[in-house]
Amino acid sequence: MKIRQIDVFQADLPYSGGTYELSGGRLYSSFDATFVRITTDNGLEGWGESTPFGSTYIASHAMGVRAGIAEIAPHLIGRDPRQVDRIYDAMDNALVGHLHAKTPLDIACWDLLGKSVNLPVCELLGGSTNQPMPIISSIYAGTPQDMRERVAKHREMGYKSHSVKIGATEAEGGPSLDAARIAESLADRQPGEYYIVDANGGMTVEHALRVLRLLPSGLDFVLEAPCATWNECMRLRQRTNVPIIADELAQDDRSISQLIADNAADGIGLKISKNGGLTQGRRQRDMCTAAGLTISVQDTVGSDIAFAAIVHLGQTVRPNLLRSVLECRDVVTLQTATGDFPLVDGMVRAPQTPGLGITPIMSALGEPVASYS
Ligand SMILES: [Mg+2]
Repeated sequence: MKIRQIDVFQADLPYSGGTYELSGGRLYSSFDATFVRITTDNGLEGWGESTPFGSTYIASHAMGVRAGIAEIAPHLIGRDPRQVDRIYDAMDNALVGHLHAKTPLDIACWDLLGKSVNLPVCELLGGSTNQPMPIISSIYAGTPQDMRERVAKHREMGYKSHSVKIGATEAEGGPSLDAARIAESLADRQPGEYYIVDANGGMTVEHALRVLRLLPSGLDFVLEAPCATWNECMRLRQRTNVPIIADELAQDDRSISQLIADNAADGIGLKISKNGGLTQGRRQRDMCTAAGLTISVQDTVGSDIAFAAIVHLGQTVRPNLLRSVLECRDVVTLQTATGDFPLVDGMVRAPQTPGLGITPIMSALGEPVASYS
């Protein structure tokens, strides 16, 4: 089985909540998504997606995904997509770094591997735990009362995990506003709910310490990506007993090895396109499992095809370490694929169908913007 053709598609994914507000005054209303279809010489099709969260979130951007694919794709023609590690070697030999560009190609190869042996991707990633997985909301940084209402709305939809965004500039209200956002978001907390307070690297150590000191005691949450740099996060960790979760700074094998060696965090937000796809995600899952770190399987953002990859990887994380999977389909308004992902009481399971278990909606994806053969 050999790769015969690689087609690239582009679509804009409007944010379902209007304008998404992130620390530091960053605003997002739509996400530029890239999709890959790999066709083999025996007629199978594999699909993957990579959708960066705008160009101001981490060092990845949508045009970079497509430029990176243009560099890599010609080197994959004629190769066996089932050899996912060897495909990754070929991608690394064609282009250094740019994991977000390698992600959709890697995921499409896993989709093909599953279809070629008639098994769902989660079975090939180590085997399904067969446990329903809690989905997590994404509550952008608004006014405290508005955030409390959006948490309540997601609770009504079945969500038991919430990612609450903070990181106000001094002009916006600084630590006082952030402390009020946390207190209000957790005000109606129900038993069994899990809260991530996420600053997306937007606080100084000083700001974070002021926020924590302003909070009433006894609030149950973990603090994700408090500061932009490794040193700042380590300094903060020495000054607080709040569990720290790494996200933006845990980008690849090297940084996750360092994170474990430095005892820099208690858990990780494993975002598939940020970290390079399922081949990398599988390895990083194992590294975190060996170190006893909790894992939330997420992506920067994305539609149905990205969600499928999230669910399949999440389905293979040891249940006592899995905290949540990101329901990115709720974050955007465009549906790009159908699939059997039953969502019951805020819990999701991977489909039993071969590969990713999705059928792309071609009318949503349009015509290819680039093709390589
Ligand atoms: Mg995060």
